[in-house]
Amino acid sequence: MSEKLNHTREIGCENCGAPLEYMEGEAVITCGFCGTTTMLAGYDNIVVVRSQRMLPPTVDRGQVEACARNWLSRGFFKAGGLKRNALITSVESVVLPYWIVRCSATTMWRGQKKRTRTTGSGDDKRTETYWEPVSGKFSEDYTWPVYAREDREEFWGVTNLEPGRKCVFPDWGGFVLRVGGSKRSPNVDLLGGATDFDLDAVKGMRLVNGQIVQERAERQARDRIMELHAERAESKATRITDCDTTVDVMGVDLVYLPMWEIEYGYRGKAYHVLVNGHTGEVVSGEAPVGKWAKAVVFDVSMAVGGGIFTLLYAAADMAWALWPALGFGALLVGYTLWTAFMARG
Ligand SMILES: [Zn+2]
Repeated sequence: MSEKLNHTREIGCENCGAPLEYMEGEAVITCGFCGTTTMLAGYDNIVVVRSQRMLPPTVDRGQVEACARNWLSRGFFKAGGLKRNALITSVESVVLPYWIVRCSATTMWRGQKKRTRTTGSGDDKRTETYWEPVSGKFSEDYTWPVYAREDREEFWGVTNLEPGRKCVFPDWGGFVLRVGGSKRSPNVDLLGGATDFDLDAVKGMRLVNGQIVQERAERQARDRIMELHAERAESKATRITDCDTTVDVMGVDLVYLPMWEIEYGYRGKAYHVLVNGHTGEVVSGEAPVGKWAKAVVFDVSMAVGGGIFTLLYAAADMAWALWPALGFGALLVGYTLWTAFMARG
């Protein structure tokens, strides 16, 4: 290992001996001559990554723009005409390193559910709450992706393909009632279509080295899966008293994923879309919310508010409740008219 200027360093490829330049902090370095990956797993511990795979790129620049525009045209929350009016300002391809942890996770949980029951009859009739013990077990298989770099900001959205992570980011602007439009990444088989790593398949594309070594990636995957399963267990009872998750790791592969980073402008603001270069699917994206989606969210809230006061007025005989009921109704009509004739989006 020798030191150079600008924090670049050099190491000989473990396979072909070619000199490999890399940035300080990088620890998973792929040879641009033979495609072999050398991992600096610690002081004096330099190993070749044997389980190295890739998702071969199948989408070109022209197709990726169509994929992104198609995504922009879909979904109730997106601004109308976004597909037409979005101005694509930058399209870049990168090949990014992920550690894919193939594993199976099982969670056993125990907790209590709050229940109510009515006892007695006549004047002695009363409702009491009690806690019912509940327990269960669930398991799931994963090809869990751990992005192999520390810096999660240098490329937009690259960690959002992790199951359970937010992947769609609606831009509500100044609108306050921000309900819906966001989505979480599903648990999909990321190794479907994976092949052995082949340097020729990514010729001309920018191949990025990793910084996180295998052992750390595996630990990170375990931690995230435990967190996700604990969250899932929480939703199964009123309170959880015991939650135990075991993660069995079958293997860890270094997988290169081709990604397209797209930036587009809409009404003076910049947004991002990340497209999987193997499947053509949008991994993650940002989009402005349309005026009609806002109107629906607003009108439903006003209808609920107005409904409550109407009920008080009609059923509970409260004369004063008429005024707030009419107020909610007026806001509903006003906002709808404003949306139809004045608002943009
Ligand atoms: Zn080499």
